Amino acid sequence: MNTAVTAAAAAAIVIANLFAPNLPVPLNLDIPAIVAVEKNPYAQLYYYEADKQARYEAYQALHADLSADEVVWRVNAGLDYGFYTNIEPVADVNALPLIVNKYHQLPADYVPADLAKLPSGRLATKDTCAAFNAMAADARKEGLRIYDTSSYRSYALQKRLYNGYLQRDGGNVELVDTYSARPGHSEHQTGRAIDLSGSFGSLNDFIRTPEGPWVNDNCYKYGFIVRYQQDIVPLTGYKYEPWHITYVGVEVSTAMHELGITCLEEYVVKYIDHQPSVTV
Ligand SMILES: [Zn+2]
Repeated sequence: MNTAVTAAAAAAIVIANLFAPNLPVPLNLDIPAIVAVEKNPYAQLYYYEADKQARYEAYQALHADLSADEVVWRVNAGLDYGFYTNIEPVADVNALPLIVNKYHQLPADYVPADLAKLPSGRLATKDTCAAFNAMAADARKEGLRIYDTSSYRSYALQKRLYNGYLQRDGGNVELVDTYSARPGHSEHQTGRAIDLSGSFGSLNDFIRTPEGPWVNDNCYKYGFIVRYQQDIVPLTGYKYEPWHITYVGVEVSTAMHELGITCLEEYVVKYIDHQPSVTV
């Protein structure tokens, strides 16, 4: 009898203590917080944007295999939308790097202010020309020949090209979109993109020439990236184009090389739109 009373009294004391105002925060209040963290892995990332939570979840539902990192940067870059939907005008045509893709469009009348001539006589921005010349000169020291086959293209020219391809390919928009940009969406209109050829052959042969792999491995030293890499075809919407390089400046191209980032949109989300806190 005594034992039962003692046990009941002890239980009462325990219960009273649980609700006593002078106790620290009851243990059970921590549990929902832990659950919330586990439910929202996106919020742990420094480039998380709370207003995009529903899109993260929707994109993740379609791509169960993707990590939270991949979901968040892709959605932030707008890559969860269908190609050529949710199109926005390029906010700052002078930005470096400059994002022109299937979601960001240049004005029809945009012409870069500082076009200069490549050795071929074709046009590219002044910085792009200088970077190309430095790269071609260093390649030449190793017995390699790098030529430009296309650089700046006006909106009107891009429109003619795209429509010509469309006619040739029987109006197959989905096919043409994998290798030609719609007018206003071509990096060539920025004057910072160059298509290369090597010591022999056409664009399609470039990666099989000695120059192709050399450019792939070394172009970052001059401020270029191979923009449409093989591993990001579903993200760029373009087939692998080892010949198409884009001037982004040495700082960005070197950082992307060191970070192992091949997609310019990913770099912009993680290092320009947002910045990691500095840890030394
Ligand atoms: Zn190109």
